[in-house]
Amino acid sequence: MQLKVLTAVVVGVGLVAALGPSGAATAGGDRHSGQIIKLGRQVLPANDGWAASGPGTTGGSAAASGDVHIVDTRAELIEALGGDNATNRTNATPKIIVIRGTINGFEGLTGRCADLADPAYSLDAYLAAYDPAVWGRVNPSGPLEEARVRSVANQTRYTQINVGPNTTIVGMRGAKLQNLTLMVDSANNVIVRNINFVDAFDCFPAWSPTDGDAGNWNSQFDLMSVRRSVNVWVDHNTFTDGDNPDSGQPIHFGRPYQVHDGSLDITHTASLVTASYNRFVSRDKVMLIGSSNTVGPDVGRLNVTLHHNVFDGTMQRLPRVRFGQVDIYNNYYRLAGDGFSYALGVGVQSSIYAENNYFSLADGIAAEDILFDWGGTVVTEKGNWVRAGSDRPRQVSLLDAYNAAHDPDLGADSGWTPALRHGPVLPAPLVPLAALALAGARL
Ligand code: CA
Ligand code: CA
Repeated sequence: MQLKVLTAVVVGVGLVAALGPSGAATAGGDRHSGQIIKLGRQVLPANDGWAASGPGTTGGSAAASGDVHIVDTRAELIEALGGDNATNRTNATPKIIVIRGTINGFEGLTGRCADLADPAYSLDAYLAAYDPAVWGRVNPSGPLEEARVRSVANQTRYTQINVGPNTTIVGMRGAKLQNLTLMVDSANNVIVRNINFVDAFDCFPAWSPTDGDAGNWNSQFDLMSVRRSVNVWVDHNTFTDGDNPDSGQPIHFGRPYQVHDGSLDITHTASLVTASYNRFVSRDKVMLIGSSNTVGPDVGRLNVTLHHNVFDGTMQRLPRVRFGQVDIYNNYYRLAGDGFSYALGVGVQSSIYAENNYFSLADGIAAEDILFDWGGTVVTEKGNWVRAGSDRPRQVSLLDAYNAAHDPDLGADSGWTPALRHGPVLPAPLVPLAALALAGARL
């Protein structure tokens, strides 16, 4: 019975089925590009999460043949998105963009960060000026901080690639977007599939001395950001830091020099997002849904569905939620001991519905560590399974475990029931197999 369910999932969803039984693995280059363009013509299935709301999510599927582009450089990507990175976010022409090979955000800059630094900025000068022992524990200010901010603006103009409405971006086998941020801001109806996102790093992290007990370095750049947009489908992508992991960063002022921000952050009133079959690998901050506690324009927004994603060796924000109704089902969490903080962040006015997820916990992590209260009051959770260390896997109430170990308690009813789900909801014990087999960029 369980095998039948799994078989139905393998055949019924995912990229393999999407491309037909011949698959792409044995296809030649031309045939492969043809199949990936076919993938680009697909739309989000009906009822597949919050992105199916309203008009649904069709991306650039209706593109005219002249608006289907195969690109393998940053310059070609910007050209395909409309021609000018400064204005591309307003280009609403339906378009399908196929990524081939590796596109690097620093393309054309031999000095990379050095080419983007303001002449008045250097890290050595910054470290000398704002060392808490010299400067105190107040926010950096003055000409050097202003020079850092100008440097970040330079980098934003260059390595942040802006996407307009009605766009589908799909990757050919092994396609990478490296050292750049894919920014979907004020751009409705966008589909992104089968891409390896690699290491969007900030050349100019900011020192935030009052962030946490000991201060923190913070980065500006996510691998992908969704802001002020609705109907966005992020499917079958892999998000990693490549050969530049958080664990390899230097320590400055006693804290890790954090050059990464989110893998996929959904903020600034964005809503109606479905993230399915993605793989998030080995990093600290993964997914922020809502970036401000201010009770304002985010209220009633930030509605997101996460299903069949793999969170592998990730430490926090899996996701962290404010305000939104966020459906989290059939995701597989493989949580490592080193640096793990929490999985599901229950933030201000958040309404998480977490069902039939599977948590594999390294030694030192307990079921009570999975939830974290960031100022929320409730979470609905059911059917979740936990395997702690080498213990036998078992169904666990994440809420009971949390409440037994922490105060104040969280309530058990987030006040809604997800209506938008596509295909069967798997029993949690089948989730690791299904998610590992199907998640991530894979064609
Ligand atoms: Ca972010
Ligand atoms: Ca308690």
